[in-house]
Amino acid sequence: MNPRKTTAAAAAALLLSLTAAACGSDGGKDTAAGTAAGSRADTITIGIKFDQPGIGLKTPDGDYTGFDVDVATYVAKQLGFEPEDIEWKEAKSADRETLLERGDVDFIAASYSINDEREKKVDFAGPYLLAHQDILVRADDDSIKKPEDLNNKKLCSVTGSTSAQNVKTKLAPKAQLQEYGGYSECITGLENGVIDAVTTDDSILAGYASQEEFKGKFRLGGFKLSNENYGIGIQSGSELKGKINKALEKMVADGTWDKYVEKNFGPAGYKNEPAPKIGVVVT
Ligand code: GLU
Repeated sequence: MNPRKTTAAAAAALLLSLTAAACGSDGGKDTAAGTAAGSRADTITIGIKFDQPGIGLKTPDGDYTGFDVDVATYVAKQLGFEPEDIEWKEAKSADRETLLERGDVDFIAASYSINDEREKKVDFAGPYLLAHQDILVRADDDSIKKPEDLNNKKLCSVTGSTSAQNVKTKLAPKAQLQEYGGYSECITGLENGVIDAVTTDDSILAGYASQEEFKGKFRLGGFKLSNENYGIGIQSGSELKGKINKALEKMVADGTWDKYVEKNFGPAGYKNEPAPKIGVVVT
């Protein structure tokens, strides 16, 4: 074999693999984050939740539904991507910063609260929804009437979420906190009695409680334990921030935000806050 040829081939292979890595390691396809300024990407990769009804859900037939999915689809369209150009990727609570830092996704819309800790690693556009931390208990359990009643109870939340952090530091430091990978696992635990209460955003809990299979089984506490300002997560310093904020402003102004709220939260009877002002985080 001609060594020069081998070297040239190896160099070409390296260049190819570097290009693929720079393009979000998507088999060589250009994605928005991995495309040089000015050139048009083929696809956009968006991180969402896969197991949160009403917010971000992958259905058994492979569809994606929920408020975050609709918001993300609208934003993508404003960035020049049709729904068929979108690649959805699961963004579990604990993985979100890493997915952005590694360039595995172009942006994340996954019940992702803006906070100082996260802003050390990533940037946020938005906010596009204001939710509040609450709890979900079994309908027949009247032992939890106020947040302090959670002390010594088996409480479930998700690793890497603001909800788990709030429980440990403020709400009920003596609760026996179980941290699972996703809220659907907490809900299963609540249903079968392994868990006494699930805590996270009211927007998420309402979605689970309204599922046909859980009708009449659970109730929300109705506690507004925190302000959760949902933002669109992007890489630190990304030029997408201004573009996404513009898209979100348009979405609110043209009435689409209200339409998405009604479509996704209406069936769960979730009493949402009015549309937030883009760029203003409610503390
Ligand atoms: N919004 C909260 C957070 O960003 C809780 C929901 C979640 O884990 O996605 O951590």
